[in-house]
Amino acid sequence: MAEELNPFKIAQRQLDDAAGIMGLDKQAHALLREPMRTVVANIPVKMRDGTTKAFTGFRVMYNNARGPGKGGIRFHPQESLDTVKALSAWMTWKCSLANIQFGGAKGGVICDTKTMNPQELENLSRAYMRAFRNVLGPNIDVPAPDVYTTPQIMAWMMDEYSKMSGQDEFGMITGKPLEIWGSEGRFDSTALGGMYVLREAAKLKKIKMKNAKVVIQGFGNAGTFAFDLATKMFGAKVVAISDSTGGVYSDKGLDYAKLKKAKDETGSVQGYKGAQSVTNEELLELDADVLIPAAIENQITQKNAGKINAKILLELANGPVTPSADEILIQNGVFDLPDFLVNSGGVIVSYFEWVQNRGGYYWGENEVYKKLDTIITKSFNDMIQTQKDYAGKGKKISPRMAAYIIAVGRVAAAMKVRGWY
Ligand code: NAD
Repeated sequence: MAEELNPFKIAQRQLDDAAGIMGLDKQAHALLREPMRTVVANIPVKMRDGTTKAFTGFRVMYNNARGPGKGGIRFHPQESLDTVKALSAWMTWKCSLANIQFGGAKGGVICDTKTMNPQELENLSRAYMRAFRNVLGPNIDVPAPDVYTTPQIMAWMMDEYSKMSGQDEFGMITGKPLEIWGSEGRFDSTALGGMYVLREAAKLKKIKMKNAKVVIQGFGNAGTFAFDLATKMFGAKVVAISDSTGGVYSDKGLDYAKLKKAKDETGSVQGYKGAQSVTNEELLELDADVLIPAAIENQITQKNAGKINAKILLELANGPVTPSADEILIQNGVFDLPDFLVNSGGVIVSYFEWVQNRGGYYWGENEVYKKLDTIITKSFNDMIQTQKDYAGKGKKISPRMAAYIIAVGRVAAAMKVRGWY
């Protein structure tokens, strides 16, 4: 049978698996299988040649039992409603596992930003706010940047929303530039949170991180900071990295500054001299202590899961491992750490931004990092404790299922006490 690769079907299957293990109430399960609100808009945008083009935009608020919706806006040519729904579900579990006062949401527009000039991008960003103004707000649903959306785009969106509401609304969106009260420490928070999780996982599995072999797929925001931080924080050796064109491998370890230069000059990591070329498929199967998928969904499937040679799999991307692959990895003893724990640093610091905006009082970078470490380390420990609790009851469950059980349990409890079922 062909493997299911639709991200929303995968998200539903993960929820169903968790619901079965934890004995979730049937009414709560039904409520949590679908988003609470889905809005699709046909958005008119003035283009540079004076014509108006219609773009399809989405905003999905998956669940708000524990707080306002929270989740990024993607501008991507292959954006689809099912991808946005899946990502909004994962945001719900991410915010719940981190135990921060947010539900989950996500948004997107089908567009190709590479063909648009800055004025068209600004027009689209402002038009998105006008289209979704009634379902967004600091106490309703709070967006953030995602793939191909930037702090500048957040600034335009915040400005447009503020004009419509007649007052400054800094807390209606996060990932803003510092000039309009973004948070210190936001730019590398996703990778840094992942590194705190890696530190705890290595400690637990007694893996020495100094000189540990690290392989990274993806050289964007998440992947570049992961490279830099793994070397700086642990003295680890990044032996391979890739982008969409393929990767490079050197057993001696790659040099971060040289790699950045090669990427800037040639547009590809493959411009790096003195290393072997590898395809993205080969890269995933390299012998490593830590494998970090930091690119896109569905990279480790039932086809290649049996060939993964890493001790720790740190899911920095969203949805890099399919449910069938998950089962194979567990059987093979790979310590697979789930995306909605590993990459939660971004939303945790977004939460700090929202809190600071509401209080009008701002924290330094070190304070942000310390608070991030406390929250994400607690999430990791909660997950391990849940695994142990289930093992005590004779049920062996994966780290992903343990994290799901905590996250789903908290949302279900909030819905129950609010009288939703
Ligand atoms: P990005 O656009 O900055 O970088 C993506 C990288 O992946 C690029 O280097 C691209 O070349 C590479 N890539 C694309 N297709 C590939 C392929 N088929 N094989 C190998 N590499 C490929 O995006 P990002 O912000 O770094 O996000 C990466 C992942 O991390 C996404 O799944 C995203 O949802 C997730 N994530 C990011 C953040 C964040 O704060 N940036 C937060 C949470 C989750």
